[in-house]
Amino acid sequence: MTEELFRQDGYASEFESIVTAVDGDWVTLEGTFFYPGGGGQACDTGSIGGAKVTETRRSGDDIQHRVPGNEFAVGDKLWCSVDWDRRYDLMRGHTAEHILFNSLQRQVPELGIVKIFISPESKYVIVDRDIPLEAVRGAVAFANSVIDDNLPVTRSVMERDDPEMERVRVHLERIEGDEISVVEIGDVDIAACSGIHVMETGEVGALFVDRKVSAGKDGTAIHFRIGEDARKAANELAMTCMEVTEVLGSKPEDVVRTAANMRAELEGSRSMLKEAAARLMESQEPESVGGAMLYAMTVPTADRKIVSDAAEKRRAEGAVCVYVFAGGSAVVASGDPRVDCREVLSAAASELGGRGGGKPGFAQGGFPGVDQDRILECLRSRASALLK
Ligand SMILES: [Zn+2]
Repeated sequence: MTEELFRQDGYASEFESIVTAVDGDWVTLEGTFFYPGGGGQACDTGSIGGAKVTETRRSGDDIQHRVPGNEFAVGDKLWCSVDWDRRYDLMRGHTAEHILFNSLQRQVPELGIVKIFISPESKYVIVDRDIPLEAVRGAVAFANSVIDDNLPVTRSVMERDDPEMERVRVHLERIEGDEISVVEIGDVDIAACSGIHVMETGEVGALFVDRKVSAGKDGTAIHFRIGEDARKAANELAMTCMEVTEVLGSKPEDVVRTAANMRAELEGSRSMLKEAAARLMESQEPESVGGAMLYAMTVPTADRKIVSDAAEKRRAEGAVCVYVFAGGSAVVASGDPRVDCREVLSAAASELGGRGGGKPGFAQGGFPGVDQDRILECLRSRASALLK
């Protein structure tokens, strides 16, 4: 059984220990300050006897260190070193997660926690529902006041049936045993947790939420950054916001309203354009070629469905149509047995460079980078040739 020295002192990173087992890459020590990970916090890395520890894990009552290619033997007394920068970042991140979730719950009291994830690359908490950005704003402000107040973070062990347990944020059903490790942050938060935390909230430095994204059926992931990293991320987002104000030509305080207005306008224009395109196709007079009606036009829309619907209608009338629309797309439909749409498209594709396919009565193609009028003329003349 490995002695879990990290429980006694979360700040020790250099120590000496004796090898008690070696199983390939995995080395077990008598006692260790390497945290094996757990509760959403990533494991420690570092070195043992000068060799790299790439991973640490729990295995029954033991803690195993992965030391690839090691030549250690049972009884070796080795100098060990936890990668302190990594570990301290994880401790601070874990403490920040307690503060952040508490702050979010103050804004949205019914909020539940689903999962946490604390690694050097990313830190987030998954909550059981989407929450408004206004709640995130309030939570981040409160969280930073907790950090600025430099409150003590203490750990204690409580009995499962202790009446005081009522005050504790805990999922008792997820915890085994009668003794429960509880972490208290000043008089702000008290939660069951067996991870490693800092001693004072000030060590977190700063906390900043930079992303709120759906986590599918789990709920919503709230990503956060801490310390110097939080300042850098905040600055990056501020610069992005300023770039957006330049693009939109608005002031920072108006940028949300401006963007919302533009979006509404764009949606309005799109649907008007769709309607206009449909009317344009509807009102076109056909040319008569070889006794058939031929409709050919460029349509000012990016909406493939509008074009396909109109083409299907012409085909049902026994006519032939060629429609070219946004981005060099084309639809050819034919209700006349003389015109095989695939033939029309593949001939145009080999002439102009592009691709297309479908059925004899209906085919679609794309001619990226080719002028719309040129595509139209090519398809139209191919279709006419078949009708003559
Ligand atoms: Zn914790």
